[in-house]
This record gives sequence, structure tokens and C-alpha cells, in this order.
Amino acid sequence: MTELLSLSATEAKRALTQKEISAVELTTAYLEAIDQTAGLNNYVAVTADKALEMAANSDKKIAGGTAGTLEGLPVGVKDLFCTQDVSTTACSEILRNFVPPYESTVTDNLWQAGGVMLGKLNCDEFAMGSANETSCFGPAVNPWSAEVPLAAGGSSGGSASAVAARSALLATGTDTGGSIRQPAAFCGVVGMKPTYGRCSRWGIVAFASSLDQAGPFTRTVADSALMLSAMAGHDPKDSTSAPDEMPDLTKALSCGVKGMKIGIPAEYEMDGMDPEIVALWQQGQNWMVEAGAELVEISLPHTKYALPAYYIIAPAEASSNLARYDGVRYGVRTDDVQSLDDMYEKSRAAGFGDEVQRRIMIGTYALSAGYYDAYYKKAQQVRRLIRQDFDTAFASVDAILTPATPTAAFALGQKQDDPLTMYLNDVFTVPANLAGIPGISVPAGLSKDGLPLGLQLLAGAFCEDKLYATAATLESMANFTTSAPKAA
Ligand code: GLN
Repeated sequence: MTELLSLSATEAKRALTQKEISAVELTTAYLEAIDQTAGLNNYVAVTADKALEMAANSDKKIAGGTAGTLEGLPVGVKDLFCTQDVSTTACSEILRNFVPPYESTVTDNLWQAGGVMLGKLNCDEFAMGSANETSCFGPAVNPWSAEVPLAAGGSSGGSASAVAARSALLATGTDTGGSIRQPAAFCGVVGMKPTYGRCSRWGIVAFASSLDQAGPFTRTVADSALMLSAMAGHDPKDSTSAPDEMPDLTKALSCGVKGMKIGIPAEYEMDGMDPEIVALWQQGQNWMVEAGAELVEISLPHTKYALPAYYIIAPAEASSNLARYDGVRYGVRTDDVQSLDDMYEKSRAAGFGDEVQRRIMIGTYALSAGYYDAYYKKAQQVRRLIRQDFDTAFASVDAILTPATPTAAFALGQKQDDPLTMYLNDVFTVPANLAGIPGISVPAGLSKDGLPLGLQLLAGAFCEDKLYATAATLESMANFTTSAPKAA
């Protein structure tokens, strides 16, 4: 079993194609691993019967020579993606009983490619958070925890925890301000946010629609390229879905970085930054030079406004998106009410957690007449300047290298009562969402406490090929092969 679990998706795909292993065997091994690691709380629903049925079907397809690109590979799904006839809660009380009658485009694409659905993964409520602590199911735990339970990161904490703990070979995530890249860095796995518009948002529970983007969690960069190629694609059901063809990402993996220019943004060296993170970033730069790239000092002058702009725009969009949860058609409804308004108020107060309510209030305030110009409009103007910073930078560099997170994984509970400290986690990841550009977090080393640390690479919009070329190089230079101690 252990051996099956140690295969990367690329290796498992080869073994399946050569019929050295079967999809049912592989899936069974993952279902057992899910049972054994239940204490990590990274799954909120396990769809074992469905998984075995899909795996048996994959075995038939492989035998018949009609295998898809992900045929027989076990996938965990963040509980923000609607899955037909399988409960989808966004880890919120308000959706606890919601069973969608339809499948999200991204998960549908994965099943069409032969992926096998293992179950639904824990996340922050409506994807709002950085430690998976706002989930109505309680937090996912980082498999790297020793004495104290550590945060797996958020919002896609369950996805990162499961891929690191080897209870999912692949997992989906969503990234609105860093929710794929930050948990990936905390758990020592690869997390990638594509260009806005690459993956359809149709059927994904909306948080902030102009920022939300789905992406893959994997153990290796090659697996990431494989999974993203299956997830992405134009979808007429999402009006912001991009028609652009995805470049050949597998080909990009072997391009190397010789002659490439890698930008190092001065503004990402922030006051009070952990010296370990600074050292790792420097190490990453050295690796890039060794691999034949040229480093270019660049400036992204509006970086310091990214976090404040994000924490206006994201709550504003959330307050609008979450208006639909009123207890009328679906979701929690409180019965003991005097009037319609009373029903709305009580149902929403009972169904939404504190962080979600905080965001709704901030967002409603920022959008209200009289404050709109000062907050929302201003934040949108800042967003444009941030995008322009990147456009200017990418006129002279191929990719940008930065740290992924300001620290390694912290203890669960440590930042729970301090939203502002929690928001600072997103300082390196948020700018890419505001600009709509792709970013990837690659595990690159261990902290002095033996916890994984990630480096982030960013590329221009629709330049995922450059992103994967640089990420594959970083991965091989860093040679991060350690797996989470609790992993099988
Ligand atoms: N941590 C950020 C937030 O709380 C990002 C969340 C996300 O990307 N979904 O908003």
C-alpha cells in the first residue's frame, strides 16, 4: 500500500497504463489512507462507493485503450465545488444540507479526463480565512504537526493537508487571495493559481467573483501541469472564462530557464520579515542563476496597497454574492420568526459564522452610498495600478520570484482572535489575484523547526508555460523530497 501511495500522479499514470497496478487498487489504497488519517480532519465527506465505481470504470477504459489523461487517478475536491448528488457545504452551517443537482465545470472536466472522486475536502467557510479555522467542521490539521496541531493554511486547508498526508493524490482548490498557494506552502506541496479565466467558475460557490480562480494541489510540478491541463478550458457557462488555448504545459516542464529573466521585486522585502524566509528567497535566486537564468531587480511600487485593496474588494463582492443565502429556497431557515425580515435576519445570523458576518458587514459598508467612492472605487483604482505594475515588470522579465508566505505554518488557534494578523498571511499572494496573473507555490526548504517553506513564482497573464518552466527548475534545484512525517 505504502508503495502505491508514494507514486506521484505522473508515476501512477505510467503504472496504470502499463497495467502494473489497477485503478481499483490505487483507489482502495487511498480510501484506506483516508481512514487512517481521519484525525487530520481534512475530509468532510468520503464518497467511497462512488470512488470504487469510478475506478472500476477507469480500469475498463484502460483495458479498452480509451483512457483519459487522468484515468484512474484519485482526486479530492474542495467542498466549494458543486458535485452532483454529493453534499456541498462551503463548510458553512448555512449550506449544511445542500446537495447540488449539478456538477461544477472544473470537476466535470476532471471526471471526463478519468479522475476518480474520493470525497469533499475541508476549507474555511465560504473560503474566507487562512487557517481553515472558520470551517463549520473545525479545522483541517497540518500533517507536519508534532506536539501542537499546526494550521494547514487556508482556505483550501483540507486539500493541502490531504495531498501532503497522501490521502489524496490530487486535489482541487480555489484561490481568491492566496487560498491555494498559502496552504500548499504550509504543507510542503505544490499549489497553483491559474490566470483569471483559465478555469471555469461555473458551479463553484462564489466568494469574490472577480478574484476567484480554481487550481490544482499536487505533490510535484509535473503533476500540477497534468492536472491543470485537465481542469482548465473555455466554458460558455462562465462569462469570464477565457477563450485562449492553454499552452502545452508538459512540454514547458523541460524548457529550463536558460536565458530567462527572473524579476526580484524590491517591495517584497518587507519590514520584520522572518530571516529564514529572506534566506530561502536568496537561496531561490541563487538556484535560478545556477540554472542559467538572469536575475533582474524590479519594482512593483503599489505592492503595499494590495492587501488593503483586497480586503475592500473581496468583502464587497462577498457581501453581494452571499445575499442569496436568505433561507428562502435552500440552506438553513430559522422557523421561530415574526416576519419575512425577521426570517432573513435570524436565518443569516444562525447560518453564517463570525468571519463571514464580518466580511459581509465590511463589504456592505464599503459599497454603501456615501462610502462607495472612498472605499470601493478607490480600491478598484488601486487594483488597476497593481495590474499596471505587473504589466510593466513583465515587459522586461519572464517570471517573478518571491516568498510564498511570511512564515511557516503556525499553531492552530494562534491567530484566530486577531483577524488583522491573519490577513497579513496573504501579503505575498494577494497581488496576483488583483492582477489576474498566474502564480505557483513550490516547496523549497525546511524551517529551523523542520517545517516546509515555499517559494512563489508569478508569470504574465496566460503565460502558464513560462510559469511551469521556471517552477520545474525551482523544484529540481530545491530537490524537496521530504514528505510529511505523519504521511504513510
Ligand atoms: N486568506 C484570504 C481571505 O481570507 C484568501 C482566501 C482565498 O483565497 N479564498 O480572504
